[in-house]
Amino acid sequence: MAKRLLIVIDGPAGAGKTSVSRRLADRLGYIYVDTGALYRAVAVRAEDLGIRSDDDTALKQLLDGLTIRYEMRYDGPHVLAGDVDVTVRIREPKITMLASAISARPVVREFLLGLQRQLGREKAAVFEGRDMGTVVFPDADVKFFLIADIHERARRRFQELPPAPGMTVEAVEQDMIRRDRNDSTREAAPLKPAADAVRIDSTELSIEGVVEKMMTVVRDKMEN
Ligand code: C5P
Repeated sequence: MAKRLLIVIDGPAGAGKTSVSRRLADRLGYIYVDTGALYRAVAVRAEDLGIRSDDDTALKQLLDGLTIRYEMRYDGPHVLAGDVDVTVRIREPKITMLASAISARPVVREFLLGLQRQLGREKAAVFEGRDMGTVVFPDADVKFFLIADIHERARRRFQELPPAPGMTVEAVEQDMIRRDRNDSTREAAPLKPAADAVRIDSTELSIEGVVEKMMTVVRDKMEN
Protein backbone atom coordinates (compact mmCIF):
# COMPACT_ATOMS: atom_id res chain seq x y z
CA MET A 1 0.00 0.00 0.00
CA ALA A 2 1.27 3.49 -0.92
CA LYS A 3 2.37 5.75 1.91
CA ARG A 4 -0.14 8.43 2.97
CA LEU A 5 1.80 11.66 2.77
CA LEU A 6 1.12 15.12 4.06
CA ILE A 7 2.14 17.53 1.31
CA VAL A 8 2.24 21.31 1.79
CA ILE A 9 2.54 24.11 -0.73
CA ASP A 10 3.30 27.66 0.39
CA GLY A 11 3.92 30.78 -1.65
CA PRO A 12 2.69 34.28 -2.49
CA ALA A 13 -0.71 35.14 -3.99
CA GLY A 14 -1.22 34.09 -7.60
CA ALA A 15 1.78 31.76 -7.91
CA GLY A 16 -0.59 28.95 -8.94
CA LYS A 17 -0.91 27.19 -5.56
CA THR A 18 -4.64 26.51 -5.85
CA SER A 19 -4.64 25.03 -9.38
CA VAL A 20 -1.54 23.00 -8.69
CA SER A 21 -2.70 21.73 -5.26
CA ARG A 22 -6.04 20.59 -6.66
CA ARG A 23 -4.42 18.81 -9.59
CA LEU A 24 -1.78 17.19 -7.39
CA ALA A 25 -4.42 16.04 -4.87
CA ASP A 26 -6.50 14.58 -7.75
CA ARG A 27 -3.52 12.69 -9.13
CA LEU A 28 -2.83 11.15 -5.71
CA GLY A 29 -6.47 10.64 -4.61
CA TYR A 30 -5.78 12.97 -1.66
CA ILE A 31 -7.92 15.69 -0.10
CA TYR A 32 -7.04 19.26 -0.89
CA VAL A 33 -7.22 22.00 1.75
CA ASP A 34 -7.15 25.67 0.79
CA THR A 35 -6.23 27.31 4.11
CA GLY A 36 -6.65 30.82 2.69
CA ALA A 37 -10.38 30.01 2.50
CA LEU A 38 -10.43 29.64 6.30
CA TYR A 39 -8.93 33.12 6.82
CA ARG A 40 -11.38 34.45 4.26
CA ALA A 41 -14.33 32.86 6.12
CA VAL A 42 -13.30 34.64 9.34
CA ALA A 43 -13.03 37.86 7.31
CA VAL A 44 -16.62 37.44 6.04
CA ARG A 45 -17.95 37.25 9.61
CA ALA A 46 -15.79 40.22 10.70
CA GLU A 47 -17.12 42.23 7.76
CA ASP A 48 -20.75 41.35 8.58
CA LEU A 49 -20.29 42.46 12.18
CA GLY A 50 -18.34 45.59 11.27
CA ILE A 51 -15.26 44.46 13.19
CA ARG A 52 -12.05 46.36 12.40
CA SER A 53 -9.10 44.21 11.43
CA ASP A 54 -6.96 45.49 14.32
CA ASP A 55 -9.63 45.13 17.03
CA ASP A 56 -8.29 42.02 18.78
CA THR A 57 -10.90 42.13 21.54
CA ALA A 58 -13.80 42.09 19.08
CA LEU A 59 -12.05 39.45 16.95
CA LYS A 60 -11.57 37.26 20.01
CA GLN A 61 -15.25 37.60 20.91
CA LEU A 62 -16.23 36.69 17.37
CA LEU A 63 -13.94 33.64 17.32
CA ASP A 64 -15.15 32.40 20.72
CA GLY A 65 -18.59 31.82 19.25
CA LEU A 66 -17.58 30.76 15.75
CA THR A 67 -17.30 27.36 14.11
CA ILE A 68 -15.60 27.21 10.72
CA ARG A 69 -16.03 24.05 8.70
CA TYR A 70 -14.21 22.94 5.57
CA GLU A 71 -16.05 20.23 3.64
CA MET A 72 -15.16 18.34 0.49
CA ARG A 73 -18.21 18.11 -1.76
CA TYR A 74 -18.78 16.79 -5.27
CA ASP A 75 -18.35 20.30 -6.74
CA GLY A 76 -15.23 21.09 -4.72
CA PRO A 77 -14.47 22.32 -1.22
CA HIS A 78 -17.07 24.38 0.68
CA VAL A 79 -16.42 26.65 3.64
CA LEU A 80 -19.05 27.27 6.30
CA ALA A 81 -18.95 29.99 8.94
CA GLY A 82 -21.44 28.88 11.57
CA ASP A 83 -24.25 27.40 9.45
CA VAL A 84 -23.73 29.78 6.54
CA ASP A 85 -22.04 28.58 3.36
CA VAL A 86 -19.61 31.41 2.50
CA THR A 87 -17.85 29.61 -0.39
CA VAL A 88 -18.83 32.27 -2.94
CA ARG A 89 -18.55 35.36 -0.73
CA ILE A 90 -14.97 34.63 0.35
CA ARG A 91 -13.80 35.52 -3.18
CA GLU A 92 -15.09 39.12 -3.07
CA PRO A 93 -12.17 41.59 -3.48
CA LYS A 94 -12.98 43.41 -0.21
CA ILE A 95 -12.87 40.09 1.65
CA THR A 96 -9.50 39.33 0.01
CA MET A 97 -7.99 42.49 1.52
CA LEU A 98 -9.70 42.01 4.89
CA ALA A 99 -8.48 38.39 5.08
CA SER A 100 -4.95 39.64 4.47
CA ALA A 101 -5.30 42.19 7.32
CA ILE A 102 -6.89 39.89 9.92
CA SER A 103 -4.46 37.09 9.14
CA ALA A 104 -1.72 39.21 10.74
CA ARG A 105 -3.52 38.99 14.11
CA PRO A 106 -2.15 36.18 16.33
CA VAL A 107 -5.64 35.68 17.83
CA VAL A 108 -6.94 34.67 14.38
CA ARG A 109 -3.94 32.47 13.51
CA GLU A 110 -4.20 30.71 16.86
CA PHE A 111 -7.89 30.00 16.28
CA LEU A 112 -7.27 28.42 12.87
CA LEU A 113 -4.20 26.42 13.87
CA GLY A 114 -6.15 23.65 15.62
CA LEU A 115 -8.66 23.36 12.79
CA GLN A 116 -5.91 23.01 10.18
CA ARG A 117 -4.07 20.35 12.17
CA GLN A 118 -7.35 18.50 12.68
CA LEU A 119 -7.98 18.51 8.92
CA GLY A 120 -4.50 17.08 8.34
CA ARG A 121 -4.53 14.40 11.02
CA GLU A 122 -5.13 11.51 8.61
CA LYS A 123 -2.55 12.76 6.10
CA ALA A 124 -3.20 11.83 2.42
CA ALA A 125 -3.70 15.56 1.95
CA VAL A 126 -2.34 18.54 0.05
CA PHE A 127 -2.47 21.79 2.05
CA GLU A 128 -1.85 25.18 0.49
CA GLY A 129 -1.21 28.42 2.34
CA ARG A 130 1.51 30.73 3.59
CA ASP A 131 2.82 29.05 6.75
CA MET A 132 2.07 25.37 6.16
CA GLY A 133 5.69 24.22 6.08
CA THR A 134 6.97 26.66 8.71
CA VAL A 135 4.27 26.70 11.43
CA VAL A 136 1.21 24.52 10.88
CA PHE A 137 2.94 21.35 9.66
CA PRO A 138 6.67 21.68 10.33
CA ASP A 139 6.90 17.86 10.04
CA ALA A 140 5.11 17.59 6.68
CA ASP A 141 6.44 14.78 4.48
CA VAL A 142 6.92 17.00 1.42
CA LYS A 143 7.15 20.80 1.34
CA PHE A 144 7.00 23.01 -1.72
CA PHE A 145 7.43 26.76 -2.06
CA LEU A 146 5.88 28.03 -5.28
CA ILE A 147 6.87 31.40 -6.71
CA ALA A 148 6.38 33.31 -9.99
CA ASP A 149 7.18 36.69 -11.43
CA ILE A 150 4.80 39.41 -10.11
CA HIS A 151 3.62 40.51 -13.60
CA GLU A 152 2.79 36.93 -14.51
CA ARG A 153 0.97 36.38 -11.20
CA ALA A 154 -1.13 39.52 -11.72
CA ARG A 155 -1.91 38.56 -15.32
CA ARG A 156 -3.11 35.09 -14.27
CA ARG A 157 -5.24 36.42 -11.42
CA PHE A 158 -6.77 39.11 -13.66
CA GLN A 159 -7.85 36.44 -16.14
CA GLU A 160 -9.55 34.39 -13.41
CA LEU A 161 -11.51 37.29 -11.90
CA PRO A 162 -15.03 38.07 -13.11
CA PRO A 163 -15.03 41.34 -15.12
CA ALA A 164 -15.71 44.36 -12.90
CA PRO A 165 -15.77 48.09 -13.67
CA GLY A 166 -12.41 49.76 -13.07
CA MET A 167 -10.64 46.43 -12.59
CA THR A 168 -7.34 46.45 -14.49
CA VAL A 169 -4.34 44.18 -14.47
CA GLU A 170 -2.35 47.05 -12.91
CA ALA A 171 -4.86 47.34 -10.03
CA VAL A 172 -4.67 43.57 -9.45
CA GLU A 173 -0.87 43.80 -9.39
CA GLN A 174 -0.93 46.64 -6.85
CA ASP A 175 -3.29 44.67 -4.55
CA MET A 176 -1.04 41.65 -4.85
CA ILE A 177 2.08 43.65 -3.97
CA ARG A 178 0.28 45.00 -0.88
CA ARG A 179 -0.86 41.54 0.18
CA ASP A 180 2.60 40.05 -0.36
CA ARG A 181 4.06 42.85 1.76
CA ASN A 182 1.49 42.28 4.55
CA ASP A 183 2.06 38.53 4.47
CA SER A 184 5.86 38.62 4.41
CA THR A 185 6.44 41.38 6.95
CA ARG A 186 3.96 40.42 9.67
CA GLU A 187 5.37 39.08 12.90
CA ALA A 188 3.00 36.14 13.25
CA ALA A 189 3.86 33.30 10.86
CA PRO A 190 5.19 35.43 7.98
CA LEU A 191 5.25 34.07 4.46
CA LYS A 192 8.65 32.46 3.92
CA PRO A 193 9.98 29.17 2.62
CA ALA A 194 10.69 26.44 5.16
CA ALA A 195 14.39 25.55 5.19
CA ASP A 196 13.55 22.09 3.78
CA ALA A 197 11.06 23.26 1.11
CA VAL A 198 11.60 22.46 -2.56
CA ARG A 199 11.32 25.75 -4.46
CA ILE A 200 9.61 25.84 -7.83
CA ASP A 201 9.30 28.90 -10.07
CA SER A 202 6.10 28.61 -12.12
CA THR A 203 6.64 31.73 -14.29
CA GLU A 204 7.46 29.73 -17.41
CA LEU A 205 5.69 26.51 -16.53
CA SER A 206 2.15 25.27 -17.18
CA ILE A 207 0.09 23.91 -14.29
CA GLU A 208 0.78 20.41 -15.58
CA GLY A 209 4.50 21.24 -15.82
CA VAL A 210 4.58 22.23 -12.14
CA VAL A 211 2.57 19.16 -11.11
CA GLU A 212 4.99 16.91 -13.00
CA LYS A 213 7.96 18.42 -11.15
CA MET A 214 6.13 17.92 -7.85
CA MET A 215 5.20 14.33 -8.69
CA THR A 216 8.88 13.51 -9.17
CA VAL A 217 9.59 14.67 -5.61
CA VAL A 218 6.47 12.93 -4.23
CA ARG A 219 7.25 9.60 -5.96
CA ASP A 220 10.76 9.73 -4.59
CA LYS A 221 9.36 10.27 -1.08
CA MET A 222 6.93 7.38 -1.48
CA GLU A 223 9.67 5.01 -2.54
CA ASN A 224 12.18 6.00 0.14
O1 C5P B 1 -4.51 32.04 -0.34
P1 C5P B 1 -5.47 33.19 -0.29
O2 C5P B 1 -5.08 34.33 -1.19
O3 C5P B 1 -6.89 32.78 -0.50
O4 C5P B 1 -5.39 33.71 1.22
C1 C5P B 1 -6.06 34.87 1.65
C2 C5P B 1 -5.22 35.55 2.72
O5 C5P B 1 -5.16 34.72 3.88
C3 C5P B 1 -3.76 35.79 2.31
O6 C5P B 1 -3.56 37.07 1.75
C4 C5P B 1 -3.00 35.65 3.61
O7 C5P B 1 -2.90 36.92 4.23
C5 C5P B 1 -3.88 34.78 4.49
N1 C5P B 1 -3.36 33.45 4.67
C6 C5P B 1 -2.45 33.25 5.69
N2 C5P B 1 -1.99 32.00 5.98
C7 C5P B 1 -2.40 30.95 5.26
C8 C5P B 1 -3.30 31.13 4.18
C9 C5P B 1 -3.75 32.40 3.90
O8 C5P B 1 -2.05 34.21 6.34
N3 C5P B 1 -1.95 29.74 5.58
